[in-house]
Amino acid sequence: MTSARSTQTLTNALTIDLEDWAQAAVRDDLPITSRVVKNLARLLDLLDRKGVRATFFALGKACREHPDLLPAIASAGHEIATHGFGHELVHRMTPESFVADLKRSIELIEQQTGRRPVGYRAPAFSVTRSTPWVGPILTEHGIRYSSSIFPIAGRRYGIAGAPRFPHRWPTCDLVEFPLTTIRRLGRNFPVAGGGYLRLLPGRIVSGAIREVNRGGHPAVVYIHPYEMDVNEPSELRRQGWPITWRKCVQQSMFRGRVQGRLTALLDSFRFSTMASVLGFED
Ligand SMILES: [Zn+2]
Repeated sequence: MTSARSTQTLTNALTIDLEDWAQAAVRDDLPITSRVVKNLARLLDLLDRKGVRATFFALGKACREHPDLLPAIASAGHEIATHGFGHELVHRMTPESFVADLKRSIELIEQQTGRRPVGYRAPAFSVTRSTPWVGPILTEHGIRYSSSIFPIAGRRYGIAGAPRFPHRWPTCDLVEFPLTTIRRLGRNFPVAGGGYLRLLPGRIVSGAIREVNRGGHPAVVYIHPYEMDVNEPSELRRQGWPITWRKCVQQSMFRGRVQGRLTALLDSFRFSTMASVLGFED
C-alpha cells in the first residue's frame, strides 16, 4: 500500500496470546480443547507465507496439555514469552500465588523449548495500580519486558493515564510495552487487537498504527489463534458447554474478518517479535 510506505521503516510488534478460548475466556476450570492445535497451525502457516516473526505469549496450561505447540513455534523462528500458567487475573492474585504461577509457566517453556522467556503478558491485561509488586517479581525471574498494561480507563482492565509507549517501570528495570491506543479528545482508546481488531473498521486500525509510527513509536498488535476459528463458540455451545447466548454472540462476532484483517496489516506494515523491537534479541 503506497500510503503505508512512509511508515515502513519502523518495525511494530506482532504478538499472539496462545491459549484455548473457552478455558481462557469463559471459565478457567474448563478443559483445554484440541482446537488450539488447529488454530495455531493456521496462524503459523499465515506467518510463514508472509515471512513475519511474532512473539507468542504462551499460556502454560494449554502448552502442558499440547506439548507440541511450543516446539512448533520455536522451530519456525518465533519468540516464545510467557502468559502465565493458569490465566488467573493478576489483580486477584497475591504476590506469592503470582510467583508460583509465573515460575510454573517459565519452567514449562524451558522444558519444552530449552530457552527461558524474557517477556511476559498478564492474562486479560490485569496489571493495575493495585499490583505494583508485579514488575520487581518479573525481573527477579529473568523477565526483561512486559506487555501487560492498557493505558485506558477500561471497565475490566487498564490504567488510565499510564504512558502509551515503551518505558521503564518506575520501581524496577522492567520495560513495559503498553498496548497500542489512539488518543482523541484527551482520552486513550484501544485499537489494535482482540475484539477491537475484529469490530473496528480496518481503516481505523491501520490509520492508528500509521499515526503511532509517524510519531516515531512502534505499535503492538495482538491476536489470539482462536479468533480465526469462526464457529468455535456456537459449536461448543451446541455441544453443551457452559456458554451463554450473549457470550457466544459477543465472541463470535466478526471472527470471519480476522484472517483478512491480519493479512492486510502484515502487507501494509513491518512487524517482528517484541524482543526484537525492544532490542532484547541476541
Ligand atoms: Zn489470555
